[in-house]
Amino acid sequence: MALDSETMQGLLESVARFVRERLRPLEHQVAQEDRIPAEIRREIAEMGLFGLSIPEEYGGLGLTMEEEVRVAFELGKTSPAFRSLIGTNNGIGSQGLIMDGTEEQKRRYLPRLASGELISSFALTEPEAGSDAASLKTSARKVEGGYILNGTKRFITNAPHAGLFTVFARTDPSQPGAKGVSAFLVEAGTPGLSLGPIDKKMGQSGSHTSDVIFEDCRVPADALLGGREGQGFRTAMKVLDRGRLHISAVCVAMAERVIDDSLRYAVERKQFGQPIAEFQLVQAMLADSRTEAYAARCMVLETARAKDRGEDVATDAACCKLFASEMVGRVVDRAVQIHGGAGYIADHGIERFYRDARLFRIYEGTSQIQQIVIARNMVKALG
Ligand SMILES: Cc1cc2nc3c(=O)[nH]c(=O)nc-3n(C[C@H](O)[C@H](O)[C@H](O)COP(=O)(O)OP(=O)(O)OC[C@H]3O[C@@H](n4cnc5c(N)ncnc54)[C@H](O)[C@@H]3O)c2cc1C
Repeated sequence: MALDSETMQGLLESVARFVRERLRPLEHQVAQEDRIPAEIRREIAEMGLFGLSIPEEYGGLGLTMEEEVRVAFELGKTSPAFRSLIGTNNGIGSQGLIMDGTEEQKRRYLPRLASGELISSFALTEPEAGSDAASLKTSARKVEGGYILNGTKRFITNAPHAGLFTVFARTDPSQPGAKGVSAFLVEAGTPGLSLGPIDKKMGQSGSHTSDVIFEDCRVPADALLGGREGQGFRTAMKVLDRGRLHISAVCVAMAERVIDDSLRYAVERKQFGQPIAEFQLVQAMLADSRTEAYAARCMVLETARAKDRGEDVATDAACCKLFASEMVGRVVDRAVQIHGGAGYIADHGIERFYRDARLFRIYEGTSQIQQIVIARNMVKALG
């Protein structure tokens, strides 16, 4: 464990209180304005939440995977846009650098990512390369003193706010698959880097994605992550393994939040002269949701502990992402049902979670990709 149990308990309690007292009252406003207030970003930074998973020597809290998912269990109990603000700095935006960056690269960027001064993005997906990320076409041509990047990245979380992009580009055009891909650390403002308009999304208002476009964008040689070509795809896959556990924890948290909302509503709302919570058909929905959320919580904790023990959790992390993201989809659907008409009406909150949850089955690998990863690893393990 990175923190002693008292400090960890203190952190969990302060995140839970922050969610309850500061973030939940702002959920509606953030959805309406599609923007997280600047003072909230400051408070999040002051609590150290931008650097949960960044090692202490670079200014973060250096939490273990188990500690990180426990924080996500609390932070995820509100609109996912708040979690998304810190999600890239703790996850896909910094982990490549932590795992495979050079010491000099780590010292240059990690302290500013941990403090929240700098927001990071992970730019893998392209218009023609989504699930088949290894087919990406963005090119990085080696020139005197650096590389020239050309191509377009799509749906990049936090791109409109990012100061640093981890960009995956093909350095070896003779290698069409994963082997020809390298990762680069590209700073916002580099000439030749531009952004598309902010995407209009189904949900998660307040969290922003956009295209990231490279047109003859010249980066210095030391922008190559880890200083080695051809390693980029391996880095991306390792980063996503870890990210899957974090997203799974957020799914558990959202499920627990809407179960709590549904239970309170069912106890208060009366039909046929009694609280709807007394009808066994409503109880079945509550019980199924509670059971599934509990199963996902146990899976995520167990897999996080195995990761902390140094075990290979690629298969189990994919199981967690598959089960937890599908589970929260079922739970938010039942929550709408329990709320009846009120569940369908915009701004009540529940329909917003219904739309917000839909993304979890799509990004950081769709449910189908998780199924493929799990089954492929099962077959491989048989030898
Ligand atoms: C809000 C949002 C934020 C995102 N943030 C980021 C980010 O920060 N960085 C980033 O790089 N990307 C990001 N993405 C991209 C995301 O990871 C991709 O959208 C996702 O991986 C799916 O790729 P795709 O959209 O191209 O769908 P496709 O790959 O075209 O898939 C379409 C459908 O086909 C299915 N399918 C594809 N291949 C197979 C197969 N072999 N077998 C069975 N079914 C298959 C898929 O499961 C899916 O149902 C984000 C996306 C969204 C919507």
